[in-house]
Amino acid sequence: MSMKTIAIIGSGIGGLTAGNLLAGRGHHVTIFESHTSPGGYTAGFRQKGFYFESGTLAFESSGVFLKTMEDLGLKDRVHLAKARNRMVSPYYDFRFESCEGFREALAAAFPSEKAAVNACFAEISAVSKAMRPFVNKPYPMQFSGLGAVKAMLSYLSSGPKVFKLFKRYRGQSVNDIADRHFRKATPPHRLITNLGYPRMGIIGLAGYFAMISEDYWHVVEGMQHLADVLADRFRRNGGDLRLGAPVEKILTKDGAAAGVVSRGVSYEADAVISACDYKRTFLELIDDPSLIPPVQLEKIRNAAVSEGIFTVYLGLSLSNEELDRSLRAYTVAYSPLAYDLDFEDPNDPAHFAKCGFSMHSLSLINPSLAPKGKSSLMIQAICPTRWQNNWHKGDQERYSVLKERVKAALIERAETIVPDLGSRIEFEDAATPLTYERYTGNADGATSAWSWDPRKAFYEGGMMSAAVGTPVRGLFIGSCWSNQIGGVPGAIAAAYICAKKIR
Ligand SMILES: Cc1cc2nc3c(=O)[nH]c(=O)nc-3n(C[C@H](O)[C@H](O)[C@H](O)COP(=O)(O)OP(=O)(O)OC[C@H]3O[C@@H](n4cnc5c(N)ncnc54)[C@H](O)[C@@H]3O)c2cc1C
Repeated sequence: MSMKTIAIIGSGIGGLTAGNLLAGRGHHVTIFESHTSPGGYTAGFRQKGFYFESGTLAFESSGVFLKTMEDLGLKDRVHLAKARNRMVSPYYDFRFESCEGFREALAAAFPSEKAAVNACFAEISAVSKAMRPFVNKPYPMQFSGLGAVKAMLSYLSSGPKVFKLFKRYRGQSVNDIADRHFRKATPPHRLITNLGYPRMGIIGLAGYFAMISEDYWHVVEGMQHLADVLADRFRRNGGDLRLGAPVEKILTKDGAAAGVVSRGVSYEADAVISACDYKRTFLELIDDPSLIPPVQLEKIRNAAVSEGIFTVYLGLSLSNEELDRSLRAYTVAYSPLAYDLDFEDPNDPAHFAKCGFSMHSLSLINPSLAPKGKSSLMIQAICPTRWQNNWHKGDQERYSVLKERVKAALIERAETIVPDLGSRIEFEDAATPLTYERYTGNADGATSAWSWDPRKAFYEGGMMSAAVGTPVRGLFIGSCWSNQIGGVPGAIAAAYICAKKIR
């Protein structure tokens, strides 16, 4: 094996995992990160003694994550806490612990629709059950040799069944399944169409049920700790992590990646891993766009990305015990089910008065993430892409007014669950999709790479693969954008495949 010089753009979970795997093998690896701290979407910050996740609160597929930590010798450095979700609406209030429990709660909430609820859940749970063998398991690509064959077995045994179901539901979204079983503009129809991402595929919905109830995890110490631990290990293994170092160009030579330019300085490399936004990689960073077929460039330009999110960060004078009396879970998802929401319409000014939202407390999981006797709460709601003239981007005053208005609206609405919330706030801040775009470079603040709507799929191959190759030799995609549905496990999968391709 010859030692190579490798440039990685981005220090999210994808870039950090790839960097660690490659540096561990003795390659000369440099990670270039625009921001002044590592982590990308798996990051957090402290204000007035309160720690907040920047955005990502949890991830699924503990098997994939734990295998990564084990491979990197970091298993004891990061701890996971299982998600505890409560679902609330004017019609129901229950703990989300299984697909079957969800079905029972809905059948009780909508007794006149019991048969329709059962029929709808028969479809969802058939796919969800078929996906069970993947829950809690590492990916086969995380192994080599015999290990890979063994890991492949559980996939192979359930493969034909899953494949058949994937084929049957290909192109169908949660809206199709809701239309089949419920009348439009009714609460159960609104509930099904508002689970997860807008118009998410039925396979995604089934995955949501398979994972969220069983295999969905918070990082006890916070996502920033995870990123710092990975960054520290990378450096200890000889890796060079450059913070505040945006890459402006990917250099190519004779059709192959040859290095990067950061802050006007060129760095030669045998291979380049883009562990950052996909659109920017191809539309702005590559020095010679003629290496990408024009149809491919056009497809990338027009491809729809996953919706962004609005986040409110609150430090509270409530104790954890007091907050827990209202939340009774780490996360509460509240859905009014009173409106039909159109996430493809960026012009509805009342979106945040109508949409569902979730509340999550980090200090209930780990009290040391808030000052003694206090607690923290984050409120999140999905936004239509480029809502309200893209949040009045470029007009700082109107942007600030809009951001403030949405923050206040969500705090007021959260009082449905936490009474008097507004009077117990010691610290407050908010992030819009533009904030996320500014901090991570992800197009339109896309939270999880490409759109989850199967009509707008970027990759033909479906949901379960990671496409790390590019038309430029030696340029690889090591981010969640290599997957149709993005995500932390997707970014890790990309990192492992990149590390295998760069021997
Ligand atoms: C609110 C929210 C909730 C989420 N919930 C979940 C969930 O429940 N489950 C799940 O699996 N996933 C979830 N995700 C998605 C998940 O966090 C991401 O898919 C994953 O963390 C992406 O990792 P990444 O390494 O691919 O890229 P990113 O984390 O986006 O990292 C990219 C890095 O590249 C840097 N960068 C960008 N451009 C440049 C440049 N030109 N030069 C140098 N550096 C650059 C950025 O600053 C950033 O640090 C959520 C995301 C959000 C925002």
